[in-house]
Amino acid sequence: MKKSINTFLKHPTKDSSNKSANPPIIRASTILFDTMQELHNHENKIKKHQKISHYSYGRYGSSTTIELENILKELEQAYHVFLTGTGFGGVALALMSLCRPGDEILVSDNVYGPTKEISEKLLKEFNINAKFYDPDSINDLKNKISRKTKMILVENPGSNTFEFQDLSEIIKIAKKNKIYTFLDNTWGTPLYLKPLKIGFDMSFSSATKYFSGHSDAMGGSLAVNKRVFKQIMFFYKLSGYRMSADEAYLIIRGIRTLDTRLKQHYQNTKAVINYLKKQKKISEILYPYKPSSKNYKLWKKYYSGATGLFSIVIKSKKKSSVVKFVNSLELFGIGYSWGGFESLAIIQDLKSSKKDEYIQRRRFYRFSNDEHIVRLHIGLEDPKDLINDLRNCLRYIK
Ligand SMILES: *Cc1c(COP(=O)(O)O)cnc(C)c1O
Repeated sequence: MKKSINTFLKHPTKDSSNKSANPPIIRASTILFDTMQELHNHENKIKKHQKISHYSYGRYGSSTTIELENILKELEQAYHVFLTGTGFGGVALALMSLCRPGDEILVSDNVYGPTKEISEKLLKEFNINAKFYDPDSINDLKNKISRKTKMILVENPGSNTFEFQDLSEIIKIAKKNKIYTFLDNTWGTPLYLKPLKIGFDMSFSSATKYFSGHSDAMGGSLAVNKRVFKQIMFFYKLSGYRMSADEAYLIIRGIRTLDTRLKQHYQNTKAVINYLKKQKKISEILYPYKPSSKNYKLWKKYYSGATGLFSIVIKSKKKSSVVKFVNSLELFGIGYSWGGFESLAIIQDLKSSKKDEYIQRRRFYRFSNDEHIVRLHIGLEDPKDLINDLRNCLRYIK
């Protein structure tokens, strides 16, 4: 029977060896075989087929992590999914597997901070040069391609300033120049955007965010096509990257309700934005909500849904009053990450103190000195309460 993905998430696989509705946590280092012949046959099978459905040693996974891989393979329509211990491990896995000394990579300059840092600092030590392109200009991307360009790394939308890019235009350029493509799809999740179907070689999500959904687990998922599989598997096995069975279990448990939670995050976000867009103290909302805007059109072109993370731009000569606004919020926690059940707020203070470190952070310089970016994650609380909380605290902004 053909099933919708939402149904699939409730019935991912049938495990005949176990009668529990949810697969158990299988922690394992050693996997036992009945005979030496069985062990050798198994290893030969893995070598021949490359694709692994059953591992021979715990470093490569256990039946719990394989279960999660299979769920994500279906969700992403992927050839294979690599799981890592944190989301960022998945970004590092892609870069370290495919880039070699002398290569260049092109990175959209609105990417998540650590992605920027690994590109411009760590890779440099391996003689791999990162160039940053303007996510609002496909020509800038085109102009920066050289014979050395190995990979284009896109984050869509940028998780601080929320620009949306024309993804199939990027793919056209990459294919013509035989460049690998990577998309950080943590915001949209593979439920709302399937990067591999558009033509990306790699679709990455931090499983720490919406996949797990409960702010109590960390993980990364790098879904790949056949073209890059072998090279990434080579590095994956030798780097020691893996996800523990316990984290995989929590992520499986979370992902069953991904569709239901995301719908509610979106509804709540729409309600909060409807309130915020009428507030004079907020000069801009960085979220695809205005049908006339470029970002909305590009979101609509590719995505079947939107989620709960966005930024607001607050114009104020008194930064301390913006700090007071955020500090005073009762229902919004202050902290990193997002994608859990709870609302969060954080001031993106990347412009002042870290100017030297993040020289390339041009994105933030389109804003003037009296504009402050506050990133909000809208959780699953009653949106009326969230709006009341915001209303109570916006009055502190001077
Ligand atoms: C959080 C995040 C990551 C990294 O994930 P971790 O699980 O925190 O390591 C990468 N990209 C984006 C867009 C993120 O929000």
